[in-house]
Amino acid sequence: MRLRVGYSGFAGKPSSTNHQKREYFFASSLALGFSESMSSVKSVVELSEVDKSFPRGEGSVSVLKGISFSINEGESVAVVGPSGSGKSTLLNIVGTLDQPSSGTVMIDGVNVSSMDELALADFRNQRLGFIFQSHHLLPQCTVLENVLVPTLASRDPRIRGSAIERAPGLLKRVGLDHRMDHRPGQLSGGECQRVAVVRALINNPKLLLADEPTGALDRQSAEALSELLLELNREDGVTLIVVTHSLDLAGKMKRTLELQDGALPNDRNA
Ligand code: ADP
Ligand code: MG
Repeated sequence: MRLRVGYSGFAGKPSSTNHQKREYFFASSLALGFSESMSSVKSVVELSEVDKSFPRGEGSVSVLKGISFSINEGESVAVVGPSGSGKSTLLNIVGTLDQPSSGTVMIDGVNVSSMDELALADFRNQRLGFIFQSHHLLPQCTVLENVLVPTLASRDPRIRGSAIERAPGLLKRVGLDHRMDHRPGQLSGGECQRVAVVRALINNPKLLLADEPTGALDRQSAEALSELLLELNREDGVTLIVVTHSLDLAGKMKRTLELQDGALPNDRNA
């Protein structure tokens, strides 16, 4: 299984905005192809001097301060730090769910700060996969329906079609193919979280972002989930960024970013 998606969004009605978006993506694909041919190691995430403040009371609170780092394709990175140090804020910014107050964010070679909401939603849907502490599965839907939810936003029937074909294989890989017609209420916490991993992978993302993915699991399920994430990184080359309190999980990642009071004084490569 090779996890990669093409630039096949925006198949809707032609309009000047859609043309602009298509041109934008075409140009960035060319730029991407060019940079790929120049160097074999490709940067998937590049943050430069990222600051983030939130309004608080009359003023604001500075949560991230001058964060700069780059993550290459295929890396596995743990983000650690005390509670409140800005780990989730950082992951949300990398995942384009939030924007920095200043600084630049390049994801997969694209400056995401310059994209409008619609383009960003497509970008996120096609190239990023998210796993949170809580699985957020829809209780009324089956396992199979749940993992296909991210494909509903795709306007390209080919992307939807290939995801539908791939879903049973991915569920088999996480040991849940026999549970496809079950609902989340019939599954354990660990199984639900494995379904959430498949949902995150269904659109072949370039980058998998996980925020405390094992935080709500018992030890055995947490270990199984950690192994699954690392296997996806090792065998399929998915770039992995995991926020975790688990020293065990962090220790298995190639690199650790340690947030201290919103800054990154240490960036350790294992
Ligand atoms: P961590 O994930 O490391 O526990 P967070 O990134 O969730 O930390 O939060 C870092 C700080 O930013 C905390 O003080 C939190 O209260 C604040 N914060 C996070 N999100 C918001 C928000 N949307 N509005 C205001 N403050 C926020
Ligand atoms: Mg957090």
